[in-house]
Amino acid sequence: MADYRFTDLASKTIEWSSKTGLALKAAIKLRIEEQDYFGNGEWSSKGKATVWVETFIDGKSQGNFWEIRTVKNNPEILGALGDIGLRKESYDLIKGAIEEVQKHEIFKNQIAAEKAADEADKNYHASRKGICKHCDSYCYGDCQA
Ligand SMILES: [Zn+2]
Repeated sequence: MADYRFTDLASKTIEWSSKTGLALKAAIKLRIEEQDYFGNGEWSSKGKATVWVETFIDGKSQGNFWEIRTVKNNPEILGALGDIGLRKESYDLIKGAIEEVQKHEIFKNQIAAEKAADEADKNYHASRKGICKHCDSYCYGDCQA
């Protein structure tokens, strides 16, 4: 039976308090899902390394978030994680922590691989320019005429 687990590659914790004195916390993690396909203890990665942010209010988990949500019509709140609005100081700290965990080798390689794939895709499409979709040659529309 295949088994799955999350492994944290890097983590950082930011703590601050709300204007009303609540203790707020964001646990930022770079996680990768792994699978033990045959259930024999041989774990291999499955999918991509992803940033997870779990928030806490007075120690109580508010769930996991994968990005900072944008907030409209409140110039003091630069973004939000669930119900927690982030003022400039906490926003900057959390952004910084996310960038920090993303410095992990696996994440950097992943971004580089995505870029290379994008580039290869672009080159492929550029090389196919002018080739007919129907007959796969430079027929200039003759095959459909
Ligand atoms: Zn054609």
